[in-house]
Amino acid sequence: MASIVLRNLRKLYADGRVAVKDFSLDVRDGEFVVFVGPSGCGKSTTLRMIAGLEEISGGTLEIDGKVVNDLAPKQRDIAMVFQNYALYPHMSVRENMAFALKLAGRGKAEIDRRVLEAARMLQLEPLLERKPAALSGGERQRVALGRAIVREPKLFLMDEPLSNLDAKLRVEMRASIGRLHDRLGVTTIYVTHDQVEAMTMGDRIVVMKDGEIQQIAAPIELYEFPLNKFVGGFIGSPAMSFLPARWEAGAFNGRGFALALAPAQRERWKLCEHQDVWLGLRPETLRLVDKDTPATHGRLHGTAEVVEPLGAETILTLAIGAEDRVVARIAGHLRLRAGASVELGLDPEKLHVFDRASELNLGRVAA
Ligand code: ADP
Repeated sequence: MASIVLRNLRKLYADGRVAVKDFSLDVRDGEFVVFVGPSGCGKSTTLRMIAGLEEISGGTLEIDGKVVNDLAPKQRDIAMVFQNYALYPHMSVRENMAFALKLAGRGKAEIDRRVLEAARMLQLEPLLERKPAALSGGERQRVALGRAIVREPKLFLMDEPLSNLDAKLRVEMRASIGRLHDRLGVTTIYVTHDQVEAMTMGDRIVVMKDGEIQQIAAPIELYEFPLNKFVGGFIGSPAMSFLPARWEAGAFNGRGFALALAPAQRERWKLCEHQDVWLGLRPETLRLVDKDTPATHGRLHGTAEVVEPLGAETILTLAIGAEDRVVARIAGHLRLRAGASVELGLDPEKLHVFDRASELNLGRVAA
């Protein structure tokens, strides 16, 4: 097992593109860290630098206290699992899993033991004599994991290992990888563009954008305290809605609304008097309220534009004024037609406020 320290890591590709800027992170021994962000934000490049598959342009990479910038991939004791798991088609599952150990000159008894152990862990025992062509996509991916496990590396690097699987299998494999990690305790860095995968698998999540770290935190902390508008919008599904507004005279005033707040909240947001902000509203913090019950604060008025009944819940897209949209997630089946006039109540404690220019979360300052 290993601890890893990335210090000001940087990647400059030959074409002049800076894919990773000043990336610093400490990964604890045994930790499961997820890199998440939109396509092209530099996740794979960072992972490949750790693996030794990509030259490091600047900064240092330490594994267990030793700088390994110039160490060949083989010498780093790392196993990598990719999205495109290239299994050897002419070899059985057993042979595929044993291959790296054979190359490394391990004895037969040891190879058999390790392959069997990994096969048991991944429920591959009944499939050991099959060829890859006779396996389903999920089974093949389990073999790819098995190949990594038998090497007993001190670090696992996984690059979108589940993206080729269908939704149901992805959920199953997410759980298998989680169990595997609990059992083996091997330090793991996992790359995905899928925020649900990140939230459910990571001890900590590194959110990236344009080659830069936006925030490093445990899943729930990311959700509750996004440092900036990007993280707020990226983590959570359906996504947070944003409304441009300005705090004046005890209310957030927008293009087609005035959101008045209770006295305690007014105190809190006084710090952004006359400031242009983005209000960030999580769909699950909004509720429908009776239009006829008067309230002096915490209300938004809208018109239902899209009503999506999912059975257990209804996703509502509402027009707020002429230009803004808000998504609300309401429990149960809602009988509501597009065009209906709707009153929304919001929990002021769950309101996120971001500075319009810097896009930083002002709530962290106000809390
Ligand atoms: P991600 O894994 O987050 O999708 P990548 O690390 O693959 O992102 O890529 C980061 C950026 O670097 C992208 O803009 C990509 O186009 C660029 N890039 C990746 N590989 C190369 C390469 N070999 N040469 C030049 N640019 C590259």
